[in-house]
Amino acid sequence: MDFKLTDEQELFVSGVRDLMATENWESYFAECDRNSVYPERFVKQLADMGIDSLLIPEEHGGLDAGMVTLAAIWEELGRLGAPTYVLYQLPGGFNTVLREGTQEQIDKIMAFRGTGKQMWNSAITEPGAGSDVGSLQTNYTRKNGKVYLNGSKCFITSSAYTPYLVVMSRDSSSEESIYSEWFVDMTKPGIQVNKLEKLGLRMDSCCEVVFNNVELEESDLFGREGNGFNRVKEEFDAERFLVALTNYGTAYCAFEDAAKYANQRVQFGETIGRFQLIQEKFAQMQIKLTNMKNMLYEAAWKEDNGILTSGDAAMCKFYCANAAFEVVDSAMQVLGGIGIAGEHRVTRFWKDLRVDRVSGGSDEMQILTLGRAVLKKYR
Ligand SMILES: Cc1cc2nc3c(=O)[nH]c(=O)nc-3n(C[C@H](O)[C@H](O)[C@H](O)COP(=O)(O)OP(=O)(O)OC[C@H]3O[C@@H](n4cnc5c(N)ncnc54)[C@H](O)[C@@H]3O)c2cc1C
Repeated sequence: MDFKLTDEQELFVSGVRDLMATENWESYFAECDRNSVYPERFVKQLADMGIDSLLIPEEHGGLDAGMVTLAAIWEELGRLGAPTYVLYQLPGGFNTVLREGTQEQIDKIMAFRGTGKQMWNSAITEPGAGSDVGSLQTNYTRKNGKVYLNGSKCFITSSAYTPYLVVMSRDSSSEESIYSEWFVDMTKPGIQVNKLEKLGLRMDSCCEVVFNNVELEESDLFGREGNGFNRVKEEFDAERFLVALTNYGTAYCAFEDAAKYANQRVQFGETIGRFQLIQEKFAQMQIKLTNMKNMLYEAAWKEDNGILTSGDAAMCKFYCANAAFEVVDSAMQVLGGIGIAGEHRVTRFWKDLRVDRVSGGSDEMQILTLGRAVLKKYR
């Protein structure tokens, strides 16, 4: 496998490196994190560079640059301290709507291209339906030519400000489990959004969303009726890969911060990097970073060649969420008190990474998916 980036990929990577050098972004990110605000000014600058068109097919005016290119860009952004977790809508959000949406839905979402603004997200999880998605109770009912949505979703990312949600619900008129998705304009009457406080990933919102007889049109159906589960199952793999990629970049940043500190912090008359117990931490961190990188670039290459499996995506998410958390935790240890009580970004990373072991599918669910996928090959 060739790990060398093409000239075009190098150009993208150096472009984001230049962007990260234009100002002290860290103080902006720290402020956004503190106040729980989406860093729109930063995302707008990425959109200006065409990063939001990276995966869009050429026939829709996109760059069709592929996942390996995206991996290289995300790696560099993460390494330089950018919160790539806020970008999850950027690579896939347009393509999903281009594939599944009506022309009206496509026009609404494509209008966000180049703006850096949040546009839509999937609402699946409910108080009684987390890992067990099939037990969801939100439902839709047809009456007098309209469709009425009722139910309650929880932990929905971006939902405080995103103008549209694609809401998974069941057909109330059917005994069978028919799950369909509805493209919901969040300004409609009957929608209540309650913001939740969360440990990390604070630059993006997370809310409970209640739908009380929300009136929809037939034309608001998203994708094919009854195909809701299949649609999101396909998306889960890409989402899990992106979470893993984000985790890796964040760990890389913490590692470099800690390495610089270890080479400069003096105790007992020597830089702490001279102590073997500290060196051991860097050896372990480097092994984890190398494993993450190899796994992720292979998965990106598989995605570009149409052979990424759910097992691959689950393996990336499980391994990277855990390995990255361990790297950040070790980096924090190297930083001593300033990693715990100061305003160092590693403290934020530690909280961010802990969340990803649950959100987007828990560790346990990734292990179950991977275990099943491995054994299936030998049946
Ligand atoms: C910050 C954040 C953002 C999120 N964003 C979104 C979003 O945008 N849209 C959305 O729809 N959802 C979102 N979620 C929901 C997320 O996908 C769920 O929290 C996750 O799937 C786990 O569901 P749960 O919290 O109900 O936990 P539960 O499913 O109740 O699980 C609790 C524990 O039991 C374990 N467990 C459950 N079943 C099994 C089993 N069979 N075997 C072994 N262990 C098991 C789990 O792994 C977990 O450790 C988000 C969650 C968070 C925290």
